[in-house]
Order: sequence, then structure tokens, then C-alpha cells
Amino acid sequence: MRYLSTRGDPARRRFSDILLEGLAPDGGLYLPEHYPQVDAATLARWRRIYHEQGYAELAFEILSLYIDDIPPDDLRALLRRTYTAEVFGTGEIVPLRHLEDGLWLEALSNGPTLAFKDMAMQLLGHLFEYELARRGETLNILGATSGDTGSAAEYAMRGKRGIRVFMLSPHGRMSPFQQAQMYSLQDPNIHNIAIEGVFDDCQDIVKAVSADLAFKRQYRIGTVNSINWARLLAQVVYYVAGWIQATERDDQRVSFAVPSGNFGNVCAGHIARMMGLPIERLVVATNENDVLDEFFRTGVYRVRGSADTYETSSPSMDISKASNFERFVFDLLGRDAAATRALFAEALARHGRFDLSQHPAFAQVRQRYGFVSGRSTHANRIETIRTTWQRHGVLIDPHTADGVKVAREHLQPGVPMIVLETALPIKFAATIVEAIGQEPPRPAHLQGIEQLPKRVLVMPADAQRVKDHIAAVCQAG
Ligand SMILES: *Cc1c(COP(=O)(O)O)cnc(C)c1O
Repeated sequence: MRYLSTRGDPARRRFSDILLEGLAPDGGLYLPEHYPQVDAATLARWRRIYHEQGYAELAFEILSLYIDDIPPDDLRALLRRTYTAEVFGTGEIVPLRHLEDGLWLEALSNGPTLAFKDMAMQLLGHLFEYELARRGETLNILGATSGDTGSAAEYAMRGKRGIRVFMLSPHGRMSPFQQAQMYSLQDPNIHNIAIEGVFDDCQDIVKAVSADLAFKRQYRIGTVNSINWARLLAQVVYYVAGWIQATERDDQRVSFAVPSGNFGNVCAGHIARMMGLPIERLVVATNENDVLDEFFRTGVYRVRGSADTYETSSPSMDISKASNFERFVFDLLGRDAAATRALFAEALARHGRFDLSQHPAFAQVRQRYGFVSGRSTHANRIETIRTTWQRHGVLIDPHTADGVKVAREHLQPGVPMIVLETALPIKFAATIVEAIGQEPPRPAHLQGIEQLPKRVLVMPADAQRVKDHIAAVCQAG
């Protein structure tokens, strides 16, 4: 399998070459040259493998279709080490729970940081360690976080050989629980830096450091952001596992409802559907930051400025643009790289928007690609958390609530609707208290984490100071 760029760069790359990269050199995103097709016999075999041998073996079957430059035994060993009951809490890894007529919840949030990003990030940790050792290289991962991504990256990379993480977070602006999750890590390769500023200051520093190409090369600076292809690929597996658990026959179709921000999660669903997994609809659920809902309703894609990007009670979906969306548009336009480049490199850069409402491809968004969408507000999410708790005794987090709210608007008779549970309620306790008047339960191993000693350095919002710190740490070995 070779990988291409959505903007037409003629180079074709192998999995291991793009593993450690973000954007393609021409600014596009990587996609496989084609989507391997699975037939009914393969689906039947995958069903048996998941039930009899487990999630890691299923993951091996799927990832092998896309990765041909890691020896199969090595890949299988990496997957077995990643997807264990110890790390993800159950043997099923992503157990399905029935909620109400036609509606199911797929648990993706039982990993170390209690959000779905662990599903891919845990694998990335093992893959990075493997590939760096194979090349005899090391990597310093630099990132900015306001919560979920940074902690998922730290828990994936902790203790990994050849890797250090420098994670910037806005000083005093994350919830006490989120701060404790990150800052209590004592691993010597994890470096928390609390920046005196807001999240955008952290992001600006990452950009400034990455723009210094000499520094970037000298200190082997890398990232683990949501456009990384390996993260998407890892996520395809739980769409297959969700379909297996919700069906008995191999021709039975299901729909997925996906709380969405950067379009990373639901893009993996799109890939699973393109491969031939019997998916009826992909329901994109947004919060008040409804860039994606607007596109799927109207054909207009309009990125937001910071003044109209809202801070909501489902904060991990607070985005101004959806960084993986270009991958879907590339497929929608029949993989026309010149057209994709014209939209993303030119129209968006110049006008901050593009309009496909009159394009013949847009008419196929629902019929041919299965996409529908909806949005949810703070009031919707509170109401959905409360009623789901009262009716079913099931407590869901605010992001999952956005998914449930929108899923209910797209139910079809006879088609199970699977809502992806993207975080556990404990991460967003204040909103849960507002909805049901009591604190969410906390897993036993997280009791009292706010009292653990913290390992974090507070610094002014100054890129040079961050660079000096990275250099000092690297020189100390
Ligand atoms: C990251 C995140 C999302 C959004 O996922 P995307 O891949 O960015 O669309 C939704 N919910 C939670 C809890 C998240 O952490």
C-alpha cells in the first residue's frame, strides 16, 4: 500500500514514512491510494476473529491491509501489547451497551485518560517507539493542549524509549481533574509546561518553535496531532467491532452517530464504509460550533474566526475548522487533487469559505456517502444527560450527549444506531452536576488524584524560553 497527498504531490510514500509526519510536503493530508474492499466472506471471518480471538487480532486483520512495511509478527505483537483488558478495562475493549429502542452506545472511553483518543494514541505510542528504534532515531514531541489530546499523548508516550513529550497547557485553565491527570505523571520523559496565558498562546508557541526549521531539525521536534494517518487507521477498527456487536448477519446494516470536532473520528467511519463495512448512515453531531453541520446541511464550508468560536460545555468539540475534513472532500470530488487544492489552499485561504451547494458531488453526500448531521446546544446536552440518566440509569458525558441528541433525529426502523461514547462523565463533572444534581462516579484508581504531587513547570508565554528549556533537557540527556 502506498499513500498519496490530497493536494496532488506526485510522491507515493509507505506507511512507515508517513507515520511520524503530519501534513504532506504540499500541505495536503495523506490517504491510501485506494481503500481495500472487504466482501461478505471477509466480514464473516472478522466476526469470528473478534469473538474468538479478540480486538487485537481484529485490529491486525484490518491494519495489515494498510501496513506492508512492518513484519506481520511485529505488527501483531504491537497490537497485542496495545489492546489489553488491563489498559482498556474489558476483554471486548469497546463493549456495546443497549440504551433504548434502536439505540446503542459503544464505549470508547475506558482507556487511561477516559476519552476515545486513547484508542488511537495508545497504538501510536507503540508504533512510534518501534519505528524510532528501527531507525536508530529519537523524537521530541511538542504539543499544545486544553485537555483531552495532551493527556492522551502523555499516557501513550510515557516510558517509551527514544521519545520525550513537551506538552504546553494554559496555566490554571484546565479543570482540576484534567490538571491532575497530566501533571501527576512522574515519568522522566514527560515534560509538562504550564504557560501563563490561554490555549491560543500555547498553540502560537508550538507554531513558532516548529517554524524555526534549524531548531526543529536539531532537536528532532515532532507532533501527534489529529491529522496523523495512523490515528485514523487505528479508529477504523472500532467501527468494525461496533458493527459486529450490533448485528448477527453479515449483510445487516448499522448507522453510527459521532460527536465531532476535527472530523477525525467520523473520517475513520467514512473509511470503514468505503471499504465495504455495511454502514447505512454516518451521523455527524456538532455542538454550537457547527462548521460541519452547516456543510452537511447546506454545502457551504465556512471556517470560523476566534470571535465566533464558542467555549461550550462539550469543549473537545470547540473547533473553528475541521482539520481532517479535506480527506472527505477529496473523496467526494472523485479524488480530484487539483480541485481539492483549489478549495483548501486557495478558496479557504482567500475567503475563509467555499460553497459546494451547486456541485453535483454535493447531491451525493447522503445517498452515496451516507452523511447526515445535526447540532446540539448546552440546553440540549443538559436535557439529554438528565433524561438518559432518569430513563435508563445510564450516565453519559456532554460530548456523548451531543451524539445521542442528534442520533435520535436520524433513527431508521430496523437499522441499529450506534452512538460513539467519546469520554466518561467524570471528566466533565460540573456539567454533570448541572444536569442531574450529583457528582459522577469516579473509577477507583482515580480517587484523590488531585492530591498527588505534580510535576509541571510554569513559564511565561515566550517561545524562546520554551526552546531554551527543550534544549536544556535534551542536552542533559
Ligand atoms: C476529540 C474529541 C471529540 C472530537 O473528535 P474529532 O475526531 O476531533 O471529531 C469528541 N469528543 C471528545 C470527548 C473528544 O476528546
